[in-house]
Formats: sequence, structure tokens, C-alpha cells
Amino acid sequence: MICKNCQKEIKDNVKFCPFCGYEQKIKKSLFSGRINRRNYFIGYIILTLILFIPWTVIVFVSTIFGIDYQNSVTTGIILLIMYVTYSIYSLSFSIKRVHDLGHSGWILLVGIIPIVNLILLIIMVFERGSETRNKYGNKPLSKIDMKEIFGFNPKI
Ligand SMILES: [Zn+2]
Repeated sequence: MICKNCQKEIKDNVKFCPFCGYEQKIKKSLFSGRINRRNYFIGYIILTLILFIPWTVIVFVSTIFGIDYQNSVTTGIILLIMYVTYSIYSLSFSIKRVHDLGHSGWILLVGIIPIVNLILLIIMVFERGSETRNKYGNKPLSKIDMKEIFGFNPKI
């Protein structure tokens, strides 16, 4: 097989590339792995756009048919689903971003302290990840990677 990082031919079933040390075939999930600054940012943009669509449809359709969507149970349920989805992915992006900086996801708990949470956010947005492999995984590839962002590869 070919190393995903340095493109050199390596033996099948090796865990690490003997040339560059890149770990092969890592399972990517919601709360494991690393995400670089760019994919962190892009993740939020895609997430916001995707969640904005159902809301736009509700308002648009309701306005056409004269439905009171603000007091509707359906609207409440959809908003709840949107909120939960956003929260889970927001946590996912944040954990992977602090992993990229070499910290455990638990460090996010300091985010409940005012001012400290702002400093943490600034660090997560601006600080470059570890230059090499750390205990949370490989240095993320520089390309935009949907699997890295969402934990699976959505067919867009
Ligand atoms: Zn390699």
C-alpha cells in the first residue's frame, strides 16, 4: 500500500510508515483524533450552513401557508434536534482541536470559567497544532478532510 502522508510504497498491514512514521488506518470518530485550525473553522461553517437549512425551510413554508411556526411543537422538536446536533459537533471539534495542541479533551472543562474560556477559544482558533505525531494521533494532513471534521465522509 501507499503511505497517506509521504506517498512511498510500504508493506500492507504495517501500523506506522517506516519512512515518515505516519500512522496508517486510524479509526476516526467524533471524539478521537486531531483537527487542524483550518478544518476546525471549516467544520463550524459547514455545520452552521447545514443546520440553517431546516430553519429556513420552516420559516419559508410557514410564511407561505400562514402557519404559526413559533408556537408549533414540530418547530420545537426540530430546534431541539438542531441544538443537540450542534452541541455534539461543537464538542467534537473542540476535543479534536485541543488534541491537536497535545492536550486531553478534559482541558475544555476550564471553559466554564469566565475570561479563561475566552483565552482558551483564542488558543484553539490561532495556535498551530503539534508539528509531529502526538499521543492523540498523526499531525493532520493539510488538505480539507471531511472524515477528519465529521468522523465519517458525508457524500456532498
Ligand atoms: Zn510515510
